[in-house]
Formats: sequence, structure tokens, C-alpha cells
Amino acid sequence: MSKVKVGVLGLQGDFLEHIHILSALNVEPKIIKYPDELEDIQGLIIPGGESTTIDRIMDDEFRQALVEANKRGMAIFGTCAGAILLAKKIQDGKEWQKPLGLIDIEIKRNAYGRQRESFDTVINIPSLGTMIRAVFIRAPEITNIGPKVKELATFEEVPVLVQENNVLVSTFHPELSANPTIHKYFLSLIK
Ligand code: GLN
Repeated sequence: MSKVKVGVLGLQGDFLEHIHILSALNVEPKIIKYPDELEDIQGLIIPGGESTTIDRIMDDEFRQALVEANKRGMAIFGTCAGAILLAKKIQDGKEWQKPLGLIDIEIKRNAYGRQRESFDTVINIPSLGTMIRAVFIRAPEITNIGPKVKELATFEEVPVLVQENNVLVSTFHPELSANPTIHKYFLSLIK
């Protein structure tokens, strides 16, 4: 049986770290830079980086292809900047930022402020029965979630890992701790 193909959006940000984690799991990772490459993957990771930059590079054709691929069943996992791009609404975004709206959340950019630009902590994921180390880098905060969105983990009562159908979002960087738990969970969402 051929391996499941999982893409990582490689327009900007720390996409190589995701490729490394995926390489250690039983899938075929692929860096995605063009919309037609979305056609033969079953899952896509949108990495952390700078959401405004990724937003600017992603043209309308790319956006449309991404939304359509998700509609026909491609699962998506957005981390940090990726979470911002997938949200329904961005608070404090640039006025030209056009989030993809693939998960019913509102998100606030750079919400932890400067003094906490970067920190790591341990969070509990009750549904997976495990604790993991979570690295937050100029992280956004999920300020509102819709009724169909499942809250899988929180930090200081704020959701940091959420899911709606086959779209998963984290405001931290699971690719930066040597623990594949969240990536494995994402792969379980791929049909
Ligand atoms: N602050 C960044 C943004 O607004 C996200 C940071 C990250 O992805 N680590 O896009």
C-alpha cells in the first residue's frame, strides 16, 4: 500500500521542522509551494512563521485551491501563524489580511506581548491522555470558538489546541519539541 502523502506549506516559516517530524512517521512528506501540488496530498500542515507574509504570498488561486481541497477531504493542521491563516476572524490583523475561514475561531495576533514573546510550558491533553511540552513564540490567542469547535487543550484557561472536523489548530509549535503526539493525532484525522 502506498504511503499517505502529507504536504507542508513551504511559502515561509518553519516548514522544514514539520517535514522532519513527518519523515519519522509512516507518511510521505512533501513541501507545497504551488496550488496544483495540493491535488495529490491527503493532509496539509500550515506552519508557524509570519502570517502577514504567508498571507501576502498566497494568491487567490492558491486560497481557492486550498479551500476546495479541504472540502473534498484534505485535512489541515495550522500551527501559530498557520492558525491565524485558518481562522474565521483575526483581531488586530492588518486590514488587508484575508483569513481562510476554515475553522470557526477568532484569534488575536501577538497576544502574549513582548515580554513573553517566547516561552515554553507543559499542557495537558485530556482526550489523548497525555501531557506535552508546548513552545509558544509570539503566539496568537484564540479569543472565541464556535459551537462546533472542540477544545482539546488549554493554557491558563485559553484554548491552545482546537479542532473542527478535519481542521486542527494549535497556537504553539508542536514541531519544536521532540514529541510527535500532535502530529500523530493530526494523521489520525486523515481519511
Ligand atoms: N506572530 C506571528 C504572526 O502574527 C506568528 C508567530 C509564529 O508563527 N510563531 O503571524
